[in-house]
Amino acid sequence: MHLTRLPASIIIAGGGYIAVEFASIFNGLGVDTTLVHRGPNILRGFDDDVRAHVAEEMGKRGVKVLLGAQHQSISRAEDGHLVSRFTDGHQRDSEVVMFAIGREPYVQGLGLQNVGVELAPNGAIKVDEYSRTNVPSIWAVGDVTDRINLTPVAIREGAAFAETEFYARPTADYPGGRPPLKSRAGTEIYIKIDFSRRLYMRLQDIGEDADVKKLRAPTVTSALVKRLRVDIIEGSLAPGQRLKLNELGGRYGVGLVALREALCRLVANGLVLATDQKGFSVLGVSREDFLDLIETRVSIDSLALRASIEKGGVDWEAGIQGARHGLAKAGRGNELAERWETAHLSFHEALVAAAGSRRLLEIRRALADETARYRRLSLAFPGPRDIQGEHDAIAEAALARDAERACQLLAAHLRLPAEILLAAGFPHTDQEKQQ
Ligand SMILES: Cc1cc2nc3c(=O)[nH]c(=O)nc-3n(C[C@H](O)[C@H](O)[C@H](O)COP(=O)(O)OP(=O)(O)OC[C@H]3O[C@@H](n4cnc5c(N)ncnc54)[C@H](O)[C@@H]3O)c2cc1C
Repeated sequence: MHLTRLPASIIIAGGGYIAVEFASIFNGLGVDTTLVHRGPNILRGFDDDVRAHVAEEMGKRGVKVLLGAQHQSISRAEDGHLVSRFTDGHQRDSEVVMFAIGREPYVQGLGLQNVGVELAPNGAIKVDEYSRTNVPSIWAVGDVTDRINLTPVAIREGAAFAETEFYARPTADYPGGRPPLKSRAGTEIYIKIDFSRRLYMRLQDIGEDADVKKLRAPTVTSALVKRLRVDIIEGSLAPGQRLKLNELGGRYGVGLVALREALCRLVANGLVLATDQKGFSVLGVSREDFLDLIETRVSIDSLALRASIEKGGVDWEAGIQGARHGLAKAGRGNELAERWETAHLSFHEALVAAAGSRRLLEIRRALADETARYRRLSLAFPGPRDIQGEHDAIAEAALARDAERACQLLAAHLRLPAEILLAAGFPHTDQEKQQ
């Protein structure tokens, strides 16, 4: 972005830390600032308390935050202003519009393909834990590898590379893929936002009078609880899996005391099971519970979809088309990638966006979170599924306002992962698991 002078007003699209940072900077400079984000809250993937607190602080400081909306069109008015129209029907004028909706590795023109360096579908250079590509004389560190795109991570990857290659001390980027915990208070605050997502965030512009206590870095244990929780929900710790303390200690780079405490908290949350003599394991679900979860999700999603088909206007239709396009761009066969996961979430949210009930959508979101781990697990079983085809068919029925068909297709789509898992003998009951 190149600005020759400070604009009077700006609309920033995006809800990530870069969008939030720029919104705060412009607002601090006296620019009339609006942040518009398609999700229900900013800073997706970060700690919920921090998300809520940052949104509140931004609002108090005068940033207008529009959630659950995205750009549908931008046109120039006769007086030169830009007119943004959003999918939720809002319309806003501004002098400048800035999009902060993601970055892609810039590898064009390097000729990597000519020497056979493997790239991920989004152009990121594929490397192993020592930052080695598949070509023995070529390494890559930092954002271009699209691992964790943050400064301390890039620095650490560079240092690990030097240790390995120049000093013959093989050093992986981060033991367990995790940068060290760091916290500093003051006008520039580095905060470990969410251990589970392994992200740092610099909240430079929160200011001294913000309630810094609320933003303090979490303790090792509470951060670990969050990280374990995400790993359980995302399925990388599978239902029923034994949780061996030594293995977990190495994986998360923590001591046994913190680990035990974290696991005990997860027992209280109902995600982990503690058994005398046998220690801890991820709570499995009984078939009955599992089916109950899936069927509740089907009912709630269908209710929200039906209401959206009834009430949704042209913006809702545009939201579905946009989200469908985003999902197609995220790539067929890429269903375990974070980018696909985000696009998938947005697609399902776009379908129900016009339901007109915040509570209904919150319940739907919670159930979607809970079923996510099973959906991801089901992807481990190869089958003749055409996930993109399923999404397209649901979108087309919804756009054709055929509520009956759309709900039927959606129900089948939501039940399919469960059917795949049940056919594969999953889930075991908690009792079976312990035998
Ligand atoms: C607006 C914004 C705010 C951010 N805020 C934070 C934050 O608060 N905290 C945080 O931890 N991270 C933040 N980040 C992320 C952080 O900037 C990156 O993760 C980090 O800079 C990555 O370092 P890098 O060395 O991989 O890439 P870069 O810092 O991007 O460095 C790559 C360098 O390579 C050069 N280059 C590119 N192509 C070529 C070529 N063909 N030949 C030669 N040189 C080339 C570029 O000009 C650049 O100088 C932010 C990023 C952005 C965009």
